[in-house]
Amino acid sequence: MTETKVNPKDYLSGLKPIWCPGCGDFAVLNAVVKAFATLELPKEKVAVVSGIGCSSRLPGYLGTYGFNAIHGRALPIAAGLKLARPDLTVLAVGGDGDIFSIGGNHLPHVARRNIDLKCIVMDNGIYGLTKGQVSPTTPIGEKTVTTAYGSIEDPIQPLKLLLSYEASFVAQSTSLDLNHLVSMIIAAMNHKGFAFLNVRSPCVTYRGKDQYDIIRQRSKYIDKEPDYDPTDMRKAWQHAITPEYISLGILYQKPRDTYEDRWEKMREIARAGKDWTLNDVMKGFMK
Ligand code: SF4
Repeated sequence: MTETKVNPKDYLSGLKPIWCPGCGDFAVLNAVVKAFATLELPKEKVAVVSGIGCSSRLPGYLGTYGFNAIHGRALPIAAGLKLARPDLTVLAVGGDGDIFSIGGNHLPHVARRNIDLKCIVMDNGIYGLTKGQVSPTTPIGEKTVTTAYGSIEDPIQPLKLLLSYEASFVAQSTSLDLNHLVSMIIAAMNHKGFAFLNVRSPCVTYRGKDQYDIIRQRSKYIDKEPDYDPTDMRKAWQHAITPEYISLGILYQKPRDTYEDRWEKMREIARAGKDWTLNDVMKGFMK
């Protein structure tokens, strides 16, 4: 890890995290502040929005602006904030239950609109805060407090989902590799448009410490592949759907117009008053 001019600790609030010892979310917090320091972001120019869950405590541990919203609503609040304050760097953070289940209906819309915000999911495959219920990414067959005989549901595959929503940046990392995690957060923040980063972040309390070994053994850094090309959607799909390994890296990145770009163009037309006048609008109601 290269040294940063700004001290990453300057981005912490000083509140002591109350995550369980060994929780993967510690690494995500660590990586987020390292990324902020590397990019030398002024604290007052960053806002981190979350919903509810263990991972959604993260904004409270940061000294930037933060908002702990209601369950599943991190993305629409982050989107509204970014549109109202385009000068801010806005991150939405949360867990797999919060982002894919309760808030799952918001994902396609921020992705298709390509709003310039970043979404980091701490995906541990369980509802940790509420004591270990089955979540949208719990593997089939796994026993939880609500699936005593094993889950009978096929899990959501986040990377597949985001590729089908045509998110302009789709990546995956893990709490096991801090350097990689920092580099992925920086890449997401440098991307202009909606960036989605799924982080395999073990819940040691409800899914066991062996999650670290499972992720370690199955991980593959896709940018080491000779034919790696993050602009190739077909290859991105292959890395997203393979049952053979957990893909780590940027699966897909293709910049396109952001919602803000198009919004600004529309405002220019409206200001010029060429295409639509108030009379035109009124006539539309009088038909
Ligand atoms: Fe982390 Fe799981 Fe503990 Fe929540 S319950 S803090 S996700 S280890």
